Formats: sequence, C-alpha cells, structure tokens
Amino acid sequence: MAFSELIGQSYAKERLGVPLVGEPGHAFLLSGPSGIGKKTLGREFAKGLLCSHPTKEGGCGTCSNCIYMREKTHPDYRELLLPAGEKNIKVADVRSRILSDVGILSQIAERKVYLIDADGLAEEGQNALLKTLEEPPKHVVFILTVSDESKLLPTILSRTVSVRLVPNTEEEVKKHLLTKNPDMLEEEASLYARFSGGIIGYAEKLMETTWLTDAWDTLMDMILQLPTISRAELLSTRYNYFYEESDHFPELLALMNMIFDEMAVLLADPTSENLHGETKKDKMISMMKRNKMTVGKIGKCSMVLTTAAKAHKANGNFEILVCRMLLALKKESMNG
Ligand SMILES: [Zn+2]
Repeated sequence: MAFSELIGQSYAKERLGVPLVGEPGHAFLLSGPSGIGKKTLGREFAKGLLCSHPTKEGGCGTCSNCIYMREKTHPDYRELLLPAGEKNIKVADVRSRILSDVGILSQIAERKVYLIDADGLAEEGQNALLKTLEEPPKHVVFILTVSDESKLLPTILSRTVSVRLVPNTEEEVKKHLLTKNPDMLEEEASLYARFSGGIIGYAEKLMETTWLTDAWDTLMDMILQLPTISRAELLSTRYNYFYEESDHFPELLALMNMIFDEMAVLLADPTSENLHGETKKDKMISMMKRNKMTVGKIGKCSMVLTTAAKAHKANGNFEILVCRMLLALKKESMNG
C-alpha cells in the first residue's frame, strides 16, 4: 500500500510526500477530527520514512523495510497509543517506550520512527516528550497525531511540522466504503457517506448498527403514507417514533430531506438510477402521481423540515414542533 491507495487527503499526502525524498526533519503533527484517518496516514508515512527506496508516493512496498512494516514487526518503528479504557498515556510509558529507546541506533532502516497519539498525552506526558522533541537524535522522526490541537503545549506545536487532514468528499467516503466492503450496495454506501460528514471512521461506525438504514425505511414508509394516513395516527404512532428517537432528530430531518431530494430527482426523471430508495422507486412515483406532487410542493416540504430544524435548534417544544411538521408535510403532499 502506498499513499495512492489511501482515498482522499490529497493535500496531506502531497505535503508528506516531499520530505520522503528529501531531508524529513524530526517531528510531524497530523491533525484532524477523530476518525479521519490520521493514524492510517501516519503509518503509511512511517513506512515511507523507513523504506529503502521511497518516492513521493510513499514506501515502495517491496523492500525489507516495507515488508516488516506490513507485517507490523519493524524493529525501528514504535507506536505509543492510548490504551483502551484509559484517559491518558502514562508518563512512565512515554519514558520507557520512547525516551529510553530514542538513543539506541536503528537496526535495519536508516532511521527510527515513533507514532504517538498525542490526544492521549496530558501536559505531564507532553512535557516528558518535549526535551527530546527539542533536541532529537539525528536518526529519529516523530509522527504525532492529534484531533484537538488546542490541548497541545505551544512548545510542542512549534517543534512540529503541522499537516492538517480535512474531511473527504462524500464521493471519496463512498469509494472507500465500496472498496473495503465489496458486497455493499452502492446506494447503501451513499447513505453512509452522506451521513459521515466526510469522515471515514464515522461512516464505519455508522455501519456497525442498522440504525441509519432502519430509520430510512421507517421514514420512507411514513412519507409514502402521508397523503392517506389519518391525522390521529400521524399524531400518535408516527409522532411516537420521533419522540423515541428525539436524540437523533437532526439526523431524522436529514434523512427526510434526502428522501424528498430523491423524489424531486424522480419527478424530473423517473428512470433515474442509484437512488437509495431504489426499491421504493415505483411506490414513490405512483404516490407523487396520485397526489399531483410537483417540484414546488417538494420544495415546500423541504422548507417545512428547515422550519422544524430551526425550532428544534432554538429549543422549541418538541411535541409542538414535530406535530406541526407532520401536519404541514401531510398538507403539502396531498392532492390539491
Ligand atoms: Zn520499501
């Protein structure tokens, strides 16, 4: 695997590619939100730093250094991560795993590389590391990862070359999910990508449960039934669903928006493909025909959702805002 096999992050990859073919310096800081792939990129960068024939694209993948890295047995590479369930990395571990090791020469590569999860370093741990960061042995490179830069001491920040990872595009997240999960349906990948905020780790977390796809199905059924469902049922069973899922209300609104978007797409072109609602396509088309829905009416439904979102953000009464929303959606989706 080289940089090119990691999807997205073209800016960060370009920045990290340059030192691989020059003099790399001693400390890099990869920053960006949790789940964005800092450690994955950091490991690829480390492989490039240890590789016998690196290019701007990372490690060659075939030299003994790259093979040791792939097998996770490279003697000149160490990671210091936050142990599961712990709040901080112990200062004793910073000393024993890093500080007492940096003075020892590398065994097979030209240098030694340490990947450190700086989110796990409290001030004491950072201070312990600081002296070595200030005067690092010639053969050592540190790669720090952090999601919250403000928790790092200014002296740590000033000693490191900072490379920021930015959220990927929806298309990049989707491509990543489909590459990693060949059995996944394209429309399913789109749904997770849409909700990931461009963060691959978050998309993968969403995939661990069926919440998102279940909610999509429930809301799709509700929207299809809007013209015919009685007000009483709308305000009881359907309201109850929103009440039970009230912690996820913004997500529910986003899902409904997606459904209305797909309806608008279908209205413009009934043969459209790759919709998440592919299996409900015929039902959506016939519901819209029967109720003479237009793009204008669908636009009004989206506005109803925006109003609900605003009221919710302003801490409006949940029952009132949801019931208003449901009744308004019903009104807009009915014939006439
Ligand atoms: Zn190599």
